[in-house]
Amino acid sequence: MTLRTILKSLIEAGGPLPVSAYMNTCLHDPKHGYYSTRPGIGRDFITAPEISQVFGELLGLWALHEWQVLGSPKPFTLHEVGAGRGTMMADMMSAIKATGGGAAFDLAINEASPVFTEVQQEKLAGLNPQFNGAFQALGDVPFILLANEWLDCLPARQFVNLDGAWHEKVVGLDEQGDLAIGVATDKAPSQAFDVASGQTAVEVQPGLATLVDALQDAFGQVPGRALFIDYGPTERAPGDTLRAFSRGHQVGPLAMPGESDLTVDVDFGRLARLAAKAGLGVSGPVEQGAFLMALGAEQRMQALIGANPDKAEDIHKGVSRLVDPAELGSRFKVICISAPGLPPPAGF
Ligand code: SAH
Repeated sequence: MTLRTILKSLIEAGGPLPVSAYMNTCLHDPKHGYYSTRPGIGRDFITAPEISQVFGELLGLWALHEWQVLGSPKPFTLHEVGAGRGTMMADMMSAIKATGGGAAFDLAINEASPVFTEVQQEKLAGLNPQFNGAFQALGDVPFILLANEWLDCLPARQFVNLDGAWHEKVVGLDEQGDLAIGVATDKAPSQAFDVASGQTAVEVQPGLATLVDALQDAFGQVPGRALFIDYGPTERAPGDTLRAFSRGHQVGPLAMPGESDLTVDVDFGRLARLAAKAGLGVSGPVEQGAFLMALGAEQRMQALIGANPDKAEDIHKGVSRLVDPAELGSRFKVICISAPGLPPPAGF
């Protein structure tokens, strides 16, 4: 049975699904979900750590520096959420170890996908990370958490304003019995989201609020920072940004359920407001290009080229792709949420 057939019978039996429930099932259904079954990085889409080792290396040095700012606490946990192929963690730790640091770091990974977990276990075997499953809570040890391209796969609810009333968008069945996006007849509860005036469509990721709750709980007990890198607007809330990717091409969000990656733009403005309201420190969002340059992307690139002159062109190409505003440098943003009372982190 395909996920499409399962979704159709679910909808026939219980009515249309909110877009967020559709997204969650497509990504995480244990048997058919995209992340549960297909480690598609490098095939369906490509991410910064896979483009250049400089990305993970600079983040590793950032984490080491911020650990020192926290007063070099021991024990200490370096968390990564949604670690993909484990490349970023491997590059972070190789840069940290090259400075002679990191001896006090326990590593922990929150990864929802069993197939990615296997890839990570193999790649990071020598580093002995703890695997904690899908993201829920954080422990009671001072920590630094990093996540690249994780927030964009948190399921989103979508709402549209029709004649002055907000309604939730849902996935139902059309007259032929195929999956189709429609609008719920009931009015949406107004507390589900907030909108800037003039907006007629809005997308809300409930997971952002859950994340801030988890950080607020953790930072109530221990100091630390959480750094998120992703794409999305800094100010206005996203409207309808749900997109699907398969083999590097964009496909319709309903075209290949479970076989394509589903993603939305992250509402950085809302994340920042939620964190500030929770009494946490908020730095950014800033553009990825500026952030990586501030951390020394240029110098690290020159050093790598010096050590590998035959690979100069590839190294240059990779780093440029990450920092150039015309490529990923400005579309991707970096935000850091910190325990109350800490100075601003490096790079902001
Ligand atoms: N950070 C990696 C992978 C990005 S893809 C990189 O930059 O290459 C998104 C990752 O988040 C995948 O590993 C996916 O399985 C994981 N993921 C998605 N939802 C998750 C959740 N709720 N908890 C933990 N991991 C999740």
